[in-house]
Amino acid sequence: MSGFFRKIAGLFSYDVGIDLGTANTLVYIKDQGIVLREPSVVAMKGDKVKAVGEEAKRMVGRTPGSVAAIRPLKEGVIADFEVAHNMLRYFIKKACHHRRLRTRVLIAHPSCITEVERHAIEESAYEAGAIAVRLIEEPMAAAIGVGLPVSEPIGSMIIDIGGGTTEVAIISLSGIVCKKSEKCGGDALDDTIIRHMLSAHSLFIGPRTAEDIKIRIGSAHPLQTELTMDVKGLDRVTGLPKTVQVRSEEIREALQDKLDVIVNAVRQTLEHCPPELASDIHDRGITLAGGGALLRGLKELLHEQTGLPVVISEDPLSAVAEGTGKFLQENDDAFYED
Ligand code: ADP
Ligand code: MG
Repeated sequence: MSGFFRKIAGLFSYDVGIDLGTANTLVYIKDQGIVLREPSVVAMKGDKVKAVGEEAKRMVGRTPGSVAAIRPLKEGVIADFEVAHNMLRYFIKKACHHRRLRTRVLIAHPSCITEVERHAIEESAYEAGAIAVRLIEEPMAAAIGVGLPVSEPIGSMIIDIGGGTTEVAIISLSGIVCKKSEKCGGDALDDTIIRHMLSAHSLFIGPRTAEDIKIRIGSAHPLQTELTMDVKGLDRVTGLPKTVQVRSEEIREALQDKLDVIVNAVRQTLEHCPPELASDIHDRGITLAGGGALLRGLKELLHEQTGLPVVISEDPLSAVAEGTGKFLQENDDAFYED
């Protein structure tokens, strides 16, 4: 299609960028910014959708037997196609206020998904009413979002720690030169905390309490002032409610193995990187994105273990969505892959 016709088609279209994360889905509308930010959760009763997003997350662990709160993306892959499809359709419609415009969608997805899953995501967007769909790998979107010079012949390293995965990538000249994806993100840290509370304190807690502990007192490196928190749960022996005091030191120790997986992923990516790019990264350092980047002391741990400068992006939870938005703002031709 000629440039002229592309411009005309663009004028009548509504361009949307979506960060389809395992924990959170964000929607960016071109010229407006991020308009939707909700947990990637769907509450189902049988095969009927009861609630999606924020409302569905509130039901996690609190559902009556007949309602299941499902996270359709787990560990970066689509665990349930039908539910993922319903969720994507709901978010696209909600963000676009059900407007019947010519919607074109750019979706950022975890880089470890299969061809079949990529196809399923595209199909969902078309069924939700999109007239054009393009996919972008999450680390690339994150790197664009945090403002790394992705199109230049300079090596940039991004680490995106989401709910299900940690994605490490080195980018140069608009391509991913080397990458490593580990099925170890915020959810794995939460699971570890659940197991720790059970073995060390005989206390049953749910995933929401575990996430709360991680966010309030979790850390990857010794803190200047160590923290404590009262945690409520059910006693393993008596089955009755009980409160115990938990220290940041013990949580850090419990998280150690999972944090090692993240550190090793970074080390391995650096080892497989061409020498010229490695030297760029030595000078320019590593940028952290994704909600996991907010874990206290992670920056210090990565700096200590790699010797490289580490920066946390300004708004790690929005990096990928911002990246899809920037891509749309800067590429009028985004939907015409030649
Ligand atoms: P995804 O891309 O998989 O949807 P996000 O980038 O939205 O994931 O990040 C969600 C993860 O970040 C969750 O596991 C959440 O618990 C974690 N997270 C959010 N805030 C913090 C924080 N302050 N400290 C540690 N982890 C956090
Ligand atoms: Mg993400």
